[in-house]
Amino acid sequence: MAKKTVRDVDVSGKRVLVRVDFNVPLDKEGHVTDDTRIKAALPTIKYLTGEKARVILMSHLGRPKGQVNDSYRLDAVAARLEQLLGAPVRKVDDCIGEQVQQAVDELGEGDVLLLENLRFHPGEEKNEAGFARQLAALGDLLVNDAFGTAHRAHASNQGVAQLLPAVAGFLMEKEITMLGQVLGSPSRPFVAIMGGAKVSDKIGVIDNLLTRVDALLIGGGMANTFLKAAGYETGKSLLEPDKVELAGQLLQRAREKGVEMLLPVDVVVAPAASPDASFRVVPVNAVPGDDMILDIGPETVQQFGDRLKGAATVVWNGPLGVFEMEPFARGTIGIARALADSNAVTVIGGGDSAAAVEKAGVAGRITHISTGGGASLKFLEGKELPGVAALLDK
Ligand code: ADP
Ligand code: MG
Repeated sequence: MAKKTVRDVDVSGKRVLVRVDFNVPLDKEGHVTDDTRIKAALPTIKYLTGEKARVILMSHLGRPKGQVNDSYRLDAVAARLEQLLGAPVRKVDDCIGEQVQQAVDELGEGDVLLLENLRFHPGEEKNEAGFARQLAALGDLLVNDAFGTAHRAHASNQGVAQLLPAVAGFLMEKEITMLGQVLGSPSRPFVAIMGGAKVSDKIGVIDNLLTRVDALLIGGGMANTFLKAAGYETGKSLLEPDKVELAGQLLQRAREKGVEMLLPVDVVVAPAASPDASFRVVPVNAVPGDDMILDIGPETVQQFGDRLKGAATVVWNGPLGVFEMEPFARGTIGIARALADSNAVTVIGGGDSAAAVEKAGVAGRITHISTGGGASLKFLEGKELPGVAALLDK
């Protein structure tokens, strides 16, 4: 990796500000319902405490929009972190100011402090220099382990990095290495699977992948717009009429580049996207005018699966159907299993795609599931992420 990591700097005895992504879901009572993101930050935190750093953790949670909001406090996160770490975690009620400074001054070597939600201050998302300066005053260096926010230039990941030496944590390193590897030096054949709701969300990703992959398999809602461009009728399906021409151009570009592009050959249709709608499988040239396409069909799962068998690298972004509803989850689950069974390097980007792979129960058999929804998409577009760009070069 071209960026410095925690291993490349001396952290012993230093006050280390660590930007983590503790943006976890909370239930009505304020308990953490999924601690995946907290667990994902443990290797970096444990390394730093082991190296006798004074660890100052900072994160956002939810969208409190620059105001203090008790439902978005990080106390429950601190409690869960303490359990997972098996060591005390001190928590303060703000992320800047005198009391915070005092808590930092009291930190011994190997101690851990969690600051309050960064987004209680408008300066975080606005990347205000004054706010960044106040955060930076708390530490000697910055470790950024929050890949999930790396596509945003905020004070805690970009502003502070202008003021302190900034390096990657282990999670950040893994994300950049894995996503970078598939874009930069993929073993071939390299196959991409794209799905999700809309073409318009993913144009940048398709554009970038088209120049790199050997085959592109398309499903999900976005396939409808491609099917329309290929001359099929899509009934009442989700369709972006203003993107049909673009989809046609992408199909044309794929042909010119010799990139194999696979569209669904059969689909699951129903009169409505509802879990108890009556649904059936039809060939792609026989979609009833009153129905919606809500999943890829079994024949398509088979074809896509066959294409995956010979692949050495597979990137997947976007569910292939409305996987949140049982009747329309089979395509997504079938492809998730095909990926799990594959010997290829398999990389998943996108928040809903990661959830779908979890739901399919095969997460442990995927090479890398990105923890950054929007950030992984920006990365796959080939864009430089501000939070990554701000880190020191090796
Ligand atoms: P990701 O978060 O992985 O990037 P997206 O947000 O682009 O994925 O897409 C996920 C959404 O796409 C899901 O909510 C799913 O229900 C929806 N979707 C998939 N296929 C269809 C379809 N045929 N019609 C309507 N919505 C679909
Ligand atoms: Mg999504």
